[in-house]
Amino acid sequence: MLPDNALCLSIAGTDTDAGKTVVTAALARAAVAAGLRTLIIKPIQTGSIVDAQGKLQAPDIALCREAAPGADTHALLQFATACSPQLAAQLEALDEKPLRAHPLAEEIGKVVREWALATTFCTNAPGPCRNLVLLEGAGGLLTPLSHRETLGELFALLGWPVLLVVANRLGAINHALLSLEALRSRHLPCLGFVMNEVREAQSELERTIRGENPKAVESLGHKPCLAKLPHVPGLNAPEFSAREAAWNGAARALSPVLHAVGTWQGFAPKTTTQEKRSQETVSKETAAQETAAQETAAQETVDQEGVALLRFDREHLWHPYTSPLRPLRAWEAVGSSGARIRLKGGRELVDGMASWWCAIHGYNHPWLMRALQTQAQSMPHLMFGGLTHAPAVRLGQRLLGMAPPALKHVFFADSGSVAVEVALKMALQYGQAKGETRRTQVMTVRGGYHGDTLGAMSVCDPQDGMHALFSGILPKQIFAPRPECRFDAPYNPAAEQAFAKILAAHADLVAAVILEPIVQGAGGMWFYHPAFLRGVHALCKQHGCLLILDEIATGFGRTGKLFACEHADVQPDILCLGKGLSGGVMTLAATLATHEVAEGISQGGGMLMHGSTFMANALACAVSEASLELISGGGWRAEVARLERVLRQGLSPCACLPGVVDVRILGAIGVVEMESEVNVERLQAFFVEQGVWIRPFGRLVYLMPPYIITDDEIATLCTAIHRALTQEAWR
Ligand code: PMP
Repeated sequence: MLPDNALCLSIAGTDTDAGKTVVTAALARAAVAAGLRTLIIKPIQTGSIVDAQGKLQAPDIALCREAAPGADTHALLQFATACSPQLAAQLEALDEKPLRAHPLAEEIGKVVREWALATTFCTNAPGPCRNLVLLEGAGGLLTPLSHRETLGELFALLGWPVLLVVANRLGAINHALLSLEALRSRHLPCLGFVMNEVREAQSELERTIRGENPKAVESLGHKPCLAKLPHVPGLNAPEFSAREAAWNGAARALSPVLHAVGTWQGFAPKTTTQEKRSQETVSKETAAQETAAQETAAQETVDQEGVALLRFDREHLWHPYTSPLRPLRAWEAVGSSGARIRLKGGRELVDGMASWWCAIHGYNHPWLMRALQTQAQSMPHLMFGGLTHAPAVRLGQRLLGMAPPALKHVFFADSGSVAVEVALKMALQYGQAKGETRRTQVMTVRGGYHGDTLGAMSVCDPQDGMHALFSGILPKQIFAPRPECRFDAPYNPAAEQAFAKILAAHADLVAAVILEPIVQGAGGMWFYHPAFLRGVHALCKQHGCLLILDEIATGFGRTGKLFACEHADVQPDILCLGKGLSGGVMTLAATLATHEVAEGISQGGGMLMHGSTFMANALACAVSEASLELISGGGWRAEVARLERVLRQGLSPCACLPGVVDVRILGAIGVVEMESEVNVERLQAFFVEQGVWIRPFGRLVYLMPPYIITDDEIATLCTAIHRALTQEAWR
């Protein structure tokens, strides 16, 4: 496991002498200048120089030290012979052991952990540090480490995103595409590439050809050219000042790479105060001009098309949970990016909802957009009956790799509600297949929410949910009281008693218990104690019924753990995932089950009776795989911890306002509970006026923003809520 606050990037060349070291060094310089603590690792250096003391000195590390004196450096293995690592190790036969990727990867992990532990606070900024680790490969991706392994295997074990340095010379396209293939076949994410001018262009023709190369690699390889590094002769200049100027130029040219690294993990490099000030001045001026222009343009356009569009919408389109004839107001959105939603007419809103909690990486994340575009070029969708495809398989592998280990089988559904239906069917079929034919009901607690389809509705809260409306037709389920034991208060085991009693009374009828672990979402934004979940799990085991956990809202980091069940150290028999799975880009959900459940259903040739047209949609799987790649990077941990802290700071002052009965925060969820139902229409309009997007429901005004939202943006959201409550805009 790598530290949460370290972003790690592998840098590979398309060839020997592609310019990896210059790119690594210049990137490190840019990172240090942007306030990132930076470590450069050279795992294998061949052609090291023997110094006067007989010690090996890595030339690449020396160059990095010159370019980025503020960065830390570490060379792991060094050989004097300038050849492939495999041959160098053979010739210099250290302990006669061949070079192996696995121990090397472990050693690298150790170096990174120790380094990140050594200083957890930046020298120039308060709070947890943002660390960047740059690992510079040796030669190309297929450079041999041994007879069996190449550098690619080492990179694959690390699993870090890879920046490809393309030597812009004859053969560049071929080398770049082969390298991309090598990354793809190892399921390694590629951040993009840097086109490096290995020497000055000599002729007009050569210049023309070079100018074309990034485009060709981009379109054939489907990876972005993040930067072009012009040939920098000054790097070898005898005068220090000339070398400094050359490094500054190179660092500037590579700053888009740094930005891409930042967006990848959801943390952008810090700008210096001076840079920030000048950016602020420019952006304020530009913003003022833009707003004036937009307002004029807005009035004209909104008046024309906008009114017609909104009228048609109001008269003919159904919106969720509102009257078809007298619906709540809807605003026309025309764009989104990061944690912002842009409305027609130019108004921009800070988003506190992550589009019902799914856009965890923020909107239009370049990594997700690219995955979607790439998949769209080959195969958007195929039926999953009798056919399969790599996006689904790779996503399945990733999901099982990160989910609680007991889960071994994945069903891809097309929405959260359907994933719950599938989970219920699995549990019911399992009971039937085992001959326990009386187990036809599901037990749950009040205050829950599991979706809007009939089966899912049957396990939603029977009073405040939609039960009352459909009471005649929903399957009859068994309910225990809401777990009143707060997450943040000492646990009283009495909380389980009612549940235990009801389950014991119906044990032979219950196929499964379904719960949202720790956070009850749409049923009341209630956080209950992990010990309750542990208790229910034990009761399920005691009575032989399955435990279904619905992590559609809580999965992928929202509560501060990857999955909320980790708070209680409980592994379910069936797990439902959705929302953040695709980073909020496409509709996709999944139901995961243990081998025991799958085996039970399969008894006597049994099969799971479910399969919908769009199951395992290839576009949705591809974008979800990209979303999980971002999650696997681990940056979300630090972000969610930050959000928890900033939400607490921002919302706590609401606790003493009139009408507020509770303020609670967990992970990236902030809730203000009111004494009575809020006036959604009025409050929503108030929020839009304040430049924020917050959609309250029932007695709850809450925030579940994208993880990448900045502290300032959260402050804007919290201020808007405080103002709304102070001004009684909720009544
Ligand atoms: N389960 C939970 C816990 C949810 O929060 C939701 C959606 N809010 C669902 C199920 C249903 O998911 P979907 O809206 O994708 O059908």
